[in-house]
Amino acid sequence: MWPKKLIWQLYFSYLLLMGVPVIIVTWYAADTFTRFYRTQMVEELTARAYLIGAQIEEHLKGPEIGNVDSLCKVLARKTPTRFTVIAPNGKVIGDSEKNPDSMENHGSRPEIIAALDGRVGVSERFSVTLSEHMVYVALPAYKGTAVAAVVRTSFPVAVIKAALRRLYSRIAVAVAFMALLAALVSYLVSRNISLPIAAMKRGTQRFASGDFSVKLQKAGYQEARQLADGLNEMARQLSDRLSTITEQRNERDAVLSSMIEGVVAIDAEERVITINSAAGELFSIDREHAKGKLIGEALRNIEVQDFLNATLKAEGPAECELLLPVRAGGATKDSELFLQLHGSALRNGQGKAIGALMVVNDITTIKKLENIRKDFVANVSHELRTPLTSIKGYVETLQNGAMENRAEAERFLSIISNQVDRINSIVEDLLSLSRIERDAESKTIDLTPGAVRDVLSSAADTCRHKASVKGIALEVTCDVTVRALMEKPLLEQAVVNLIDNAINYSEEKKTVRIRGRTGEGGESLIEVRDEGIGIPAEHLERIFERFYRVDKARSRKLGGTGLGLSIVKHIVLAHKGRVWAESEVGTGSTFYIVLPAVPDETNAAPSQEKRPA
Ligand code: ADP
Repeated sequence: MWPKKLIWQLYFSYLLLMGVPVIIVTWYAADTFTRFYRTQMVEELTARAYLIGAQIEEHLKGPEIGNVDSLCKVLARKTPTRFTVIAPNGKVIGDSEKNPDSMENHGSRPEIIAALDGRVGVSERFSVTLSEHMVYVALPAYKGTAVAAVVRTSFPVAVIKAALRRLYSRIAVAVAFMALLAALVSYLVSRNISLPIAAMKRGTQRFASGDFSVKLQKAGYQEARQLADGLNEMARQLSDRLSTITEQRNERDAVLSSMIEGVVAIDAEERVITINSAAGELFSIDREHAKGKLIGEALRNIEVQDFLNATLKAEGPAECELLLPVRAGGATKDSELFLQLHGSALRNGQGKAIGALMVVNDITTIKKLENIRKDFVANVSHELRTPLTSIKGYVETLQNGAMENRAEAERFLSIISNQVDRINSIVEDLLSLSRIERDAESKTIDLTPGAVRDVLSSAADTCRHKASVKGIALEVTCDVTVRALMEKPLLEQAVVNLIDNAINYSEEKKTVRIRGRTGEGGESLIEVRDEGIGIPAEHLERIFERFYRVDKARSRKLGGTGLGLSIVKHIVLAHKGRVWAESEVGTGSTFYIVLPAVPDETNAAPSQEKRPA
């Protein structure tokens, strides 16, 4: 397998580029040298053969061939060459190594045949005489023009091979050294090329992971330095752009998350792009989880899905209202949210819809207020209609002749007067209710620290006459140190209303206990406890609503308007306090008012006061 790393790819390529020519050149050089050496050797042998041939020809001049054999042996002493002289009939007549008589006929040797033919015979073959491979060169020696003998020089191939081996081993050492050098140079060059690239690779990996704090080192060759420069510049621009994008995204997120309105944006495929925290809360969904999901899957509300679908296709802005059921967990009751949706399509430069934006307003409170207002108008009309109908009836009766009967007329007029009083008290109560609400809203109620005991005492005094008519005892218990931030007349009106109710809804000769004390957290607590008819538990929560009565007929008979407790609630709210009731049917009811602690106030020495009515 070819290695993947650049350094090794370069290294092996260089090694191949350097190694292959070295091998080829070495092989070629060795081959040439071998040929050259052999040619040289043959030429050498030829030259020697010519020299000895000349001497042999001298011997051949005489009638007798001289002692050629001893000449061969003498000459061979001075040179490692073997000399052989062969007669034209193939008989060996002289040899530097052996006794010619013991040698076989050489007439069939190829070099001898060539020499007898007048040519230079060259051959390389196994010598039967010496039992080794030899190179032979044979020349004709002439007597006159006729070949009188053949002079042959020979040399052992083993000696040539040994010489060549020595040469080869030197070449091998040189090649090995060159290969080592080539490997080293290849490695250094590859490393030099790949190192800056590897460093840049590490740097760009960090860029890719969003870390632009690194700067690529400008190292190595020119191109690498320029590339590092380019990459650094690119990273700088990328970092600038990313921080701009991040800043813009943070700004957008901050704007979206600080919006009270829910914002949902979808793309053309109806997948959620953005959903702000208000929308997440309204639809009770995990925003992160919803991103990228189809709107139907994310919000699970078919009406919203239809609305956004229609918005995507609509030319202009769209609007609708919807009722969203809110499933509460645990003991909390399920409820409903009134939502107002505004939608508009998001368009690209060519005007093509690429998504839709929906702004959601929670108008539950507005709707509730609207309903309260409607109920209130209906209730007021209803409350006023009863006495008005009654008045009209009696007036008509009077007009139709009842005037003639004085006693009847007086009775009717007294009823009319009562009904007018009733209308009057309703109007009075409504007026004071709206005044309290208005003052509380415009914060014109001036709360000053005051003794709760004074309020309770004067409220009890106001009701004392009414209580005494029914023989009911009013008992006020309050420490003088109990203080609260209050607008005295208002708080007194609230306590009067509670005592008035306690008297109204108690049988004769009972006791109403009015108590004031300081709670553990420094807040002041007012209690109005009666021994009256009590209030069934299911009504306890609603008795503070306008015109809410447990027993309408009884309340009307007692001259109640159904607004007394509502006034109490608004007065207490204007004092930033709380009011609630506890009751047991047949045993009695207790109304509690808690007012917040007076800040930085030292209470005076405690003293008890108990004033039975
Ligand atoms: P009303 O003018 O009818 O008394 P309120 O707003 O003062 O109107 O009281 C609302 C209703 O609460 C009354 O109609 C009555 O049914 C009930 N209620 C208030 N106070 C008492 C009480 N002390 N004992 C029993 N029922 C009470």
